[in-house]
Amino acid sequence: MATAGDIGMDTAELAALSARLEQEGAAAAIRWALDRFGSAAALACSFQDCVIVDLATRVDPGLEVVFLDTGFHFPETLQFVEEVRARYHLNLTVTHPDASAAAWPCGTSECCQRRKVEPLFRALQGKEAWLTGLKRCDASTRSNTPVLAWDQTRRMFKVNPLAAWSDDDITRYISDHDLPVHPLIAKGYLSIGCAPTTRPVRAGEDPRAGRWADSDKTECGLHT
Ligand code: SF4
Repeated sequence: MATAGDIGMDTAELAALSARLEQEGAAAAIRWALDRFGSAAALACSFQDCVIVDLATRVDPGLEVVFLDTGFHFPETLQFVEEVRARYHLNLTVTHPDASAAAWPCGTSECCQRRKVEPLFRALQGKEAWLTGLKRCDASTRSNTPVLAWDQTRRMFKVNPLAAWSDDDITRYISDHDLPVHPLIAKGYLSIGCAPTTRPVRAGEDPRAGRWADSDKTECGLHT
């Protein structure tokens, strides 16, 4: 559990601040985080879309953005990362797993641990806050995601400016701001992770039915 000593506020104050930031909107939450933490904050982005990148770089164009290259991404994802990097002149950090990851097959939790969780942990060393593009609608496991939380595992603030956004909100923002779109969206990949564990979604399926479709896995461990 978070303590007042860890975060300089008690859990009730944290919840009240989170609620206020949610009411003020995503841009206000980002501004609050970057005013408070400056270069001690970083944004972790999956690059399924670039909405959170667009919003955050409007506040601070030099914000560090972290992409976890697992070694198993679709070529289209790596291409999209480069497109977004060039468009925003991103201060981008790309992580890679260490050699120990090779021993673990795709789909195992240790695979995610070595290719995502540990590289993110290393990338966030020395930071006081990380920002994410998490949304409550992403999964039942994310349905209580607050805009602002204390990440007890990493002992830093976690800011989720898009927590209350729906998929339609994302689509509308992309259209309104003429943002680039991941090339696999048009091929039915409505939720995009690593290639071995992601398939296109069939008509009538949940948008996230294509992730870890053959297992009961729903989270990679970054947000649990
Ligand atoms: S999503 Fe799948 S392939 Fe990617 S790191 Fe996790 S288990 Fe490995």
